[in-house]
Amino acid sequence: METRRMPAKELEGIVGAEHVREAAPEDAVDGVQPSLVVEPGSVEEVGAVMRVAHREGLAVIVRGSGTKLGWGNPPAAADLILGTTRLDKVLEHAAGDLVLRVQAGVRLEELQKRLAGAGQMLAIDPPHPGATVGGIVAANASGPRRYKYGTIRDLIIGIKVVLADGTVARAGGKVVKNVAGYDLSKLFTGSLGTLGVIVEANFRLHPIPKAARTVAVELESPRAAREAAQAIMHSQVEATAVELHWSEEERLLSVLVESIPEGVEAKREAAAFLLRPFGEVRELSDEEAGALEPVLQGDGGEVPVKISAPPAELEDVLEELFGAAGRRGVGVRVRGHAATGVTYAGLRGGEEEIAALVEELREIRVRRGGSVVLLGGSPELKRRVDAWGPGGDYLGLARRVKEKFDPRGILGPGRFIGGI
Ligand SMILES: Cc1cc2nc3c(=O)[nH]c(=O)nc-3n(C[C@H](O)[C@H](O)[C@H](O)COP(=O)(O)OP(=O)(O)OC[C@H]3O[C@@H](n4cnc5c(N)ncnc54)[C@H](O)[C@@H]3O)c2cc1C
Repeated sequence: METRRMPAKELEGIVGAEHVREAAPEDAVDGVQPSLVVEPGSVEEVGAVMRVAHREGLAVIVRGSGTKLGWGNPPAAADLILGTTRLDKVLEHAAGDLVLRVQAGVRLEELQKRLAGAGQMLAIDPPHPGATVGGIVAANASGPRRYKYGTIRDLIIGIKVVLADGTVARAGGKVVKNVAGYDLSKLFTGSLGTLGVIVEANFRLHPIPKAARTVAVELESPRAAREAAQAIMHSQVEATAVELHWSEEERLLSVLVESIPEGVEAKREAAAFLLRPFGEVRELSDEEAGALEPVLQGDGGEVPVKISAPPAELEDVLEELFGAAGRRGVGVRVRGHAATGVTYAGLRGGEEEIAALVEELREIRVRRGGSVVLLGGSPELKRRVDAWGPGGDYLGLARRVKEKFDPRGILGPGRFIGGI
């Protein structure tokens, strides 16, 4: 293996000796061991660190809280971990305009607590405790509420990034309507740290709904799951989230409705009425709703997989998934955003069987315009099966964008689609 010269002293001169350390085994990314962890405290310091990395050709992995570092393929190389957690300031909260400007290392939970003081929220609920705002943008992570509010890509209105060569670039602004030629905010959303370091982002905010209820129906079959979800989607209920919970033990569709206190009861009743033909309907307490665990990477040996398909194909997705898993002796637990076509499956079983299962589902789903993405699993599993699957028409474009932003290929090399 090639050993690169690590300019530790130079990096210490930039960020201070206390913010550079030798990487430990727990800093490894998918089994690839970096040499140094560097934690800059300002945008200027990020720029200076990247200039050094660029000059020396050092592979840089950007890390927030590290909750989603298992997404993507193992890096082809990793020299520096560039940690963003010191960039943790809320720079501006214009409550009257419902807009916010924050540094990338701010943790979502802390941000939400602070915004709640003004009765506002960043309308995103990805289930990764401790995640930073920058990491959420970089991974385009989302949760159940994406049905009503969209993903972070829909909420971001401006961004500041440090490019591979240390150049600082920004796009968009603080206003919601912003006409820009080139939308860096959207491009960097979901770029997984392969195009540059996100250092700041501007978002539009939403008021926190005053009241919420969750109605759930016990289901008999995958067909009932699809039909119940469709009944809610095609109604006037305007649900915030429509979630499927499917495993050996539970077969439940839950519908979250939010509104002003006077409105929420009507919404709850309408949702319950629509769900009644499909099974027993009941209201979930906050505790019950909270106990419906998301599928996360690294949880007790479950390998998380994200299946994207049109919501109308939910029944097919469930049948394919459980059919293939049954044949291969793989255990499955599903948590799906039933109305947006994003299904998360937690798989339990041998690596060979899980790899074969992912390939089998991909064969069907990619042909139909969807995707099956591995969001975790061991490096050995990822050697058996690519995390992303085929990139199709998108791959050429992604390669050209990467070439433009990071021609030396130093940012998260190999982790993205097509080994970018
Ligand atoms: C016909 C059809 C209709 C759909 N309708 C809706 C809808 O109405 N609403 C809705 O919310 N969803 C819908 N979906 C699901 C949609 O495909 C997913 O939302 C999509 O995968 C985007 O997911 P994402 O935004 O969460 O994250 P992604 O954009 O998938 O990002 C996840 C991460 O994977 C990366 N990535 C790179 N390459 C790929 C790849 N080839 N495949 C997947 N990820 C990749 C991203 O850059 C990012 O880092 C529909 C899908 C289909 C096929």
